[in-house]
Amino acid sequence: MPLDAFQNTFAGNPLDRASDRRAKPEWIAEQLASPESLGFAVWNGRPLVEPNPNKEGGDGGMQIAYLPAKLVAELAGGPERLLFMGLWKETAVFAVDLEGPADPADGPLEGLGKFEDLRAVALRLPHTDAAIVATAKQMFEWRRRHPHCAVCGQATQAKDGGWKRQCPSCETEHFPRTDPVVIMLPYHGERCMLGRQAAWPKGMFSALAGFLEPGESIEEACARELNEEAGLRTRKVRYHSTQPWPYPSSLMIGLLAEVEDDEGTPDQTELSEVRWFTRDEARQLLAGEIEGVNAPSRLAIAMQLIKAWVEEG
Ligand SMILES: [Zn+2]
Repeated sequence: MPLDAFQNTFAGNPLDRASDRRAKPEWIAEQLASPESLGFAVWNGRPLVEPNPNKEGGDGGMQIAYLPAKLVAELAGGPERLLFMGLWKETAVFAVDLEGPADPADGPLEGLGKFEDLRAVALRLPHTDAAIVATAKQMFEWRRRHPHCAVCGQATQAKDGGWKRQCPSCETEHFPRTDPVVIMLPYHGERCMLGRQAAWPKGMFSALAGFLEPGESIEEACARELNEEAGLRTRKVRYHSTQPWPYPSSLMIGLLAEVEDDEGTPDQTELSEVRWFTRDEARQLLAGEIEGVNAPSRLAIAMQLIKAWVEEG
């Protein structure tokens, strides 16, 4: 069912997660054994991809290189590195988490595709493929970082097709985490403000962002971050959209924030510089027409926030 909402890159995973059925090990085993089932491989966070023959315009378009589920299960060597992604119509889709220095595309997966950095390839993948891979990447990062029970310290075991881990000792269930981050474009009247961090590529300016802390509402986190990083006082917060961001497990909550004045002082800890843009300047920035100043990448929600504000004018 299409969702009537703005979809950022990495959102829009079309698979049916079948969360009722994936909890049954016998159903998962049946899907794995079916010759119809598919899988794909992720190596050190990079998806195996291949040229997309259906891409309009031809050049550069890629797609997930799907493999038989049987091969993916063999590569996984057990449930620990295997993830049931969901159903595409009636077809079960699995992913395998490969690690280590040796490129499997030069070994067992030779001739079946090549592993590409997700951020570098995301805009060349179909929107849905980027979202499917981002889901797998986030899940595998969680598994890698949380191998032990947070209550008693025992090694945990993958359950529910990989969507849950359970402690064999104290039986506590552990679920994958998503860390909320507020990301906001402050504006006052006809100008919006972007900031830059000293570590960013030269000339790059973007929206401001920070982790939501326990006990905060989204709008309170937005106001706190704008005040801490740039000394701005927030009047009103509006929601735009969200973006799953698998580095390693964030959900970016995109906001437009009306602030009390158009001053703003970088804190020199997080932000080294701030700059105000009129709507025309922001439009030029998005078009790459301001010399020496670069907008955030097209795949980032920050770019969508600037675009939304420009289009309001
Ligand atoms: Zn435990």
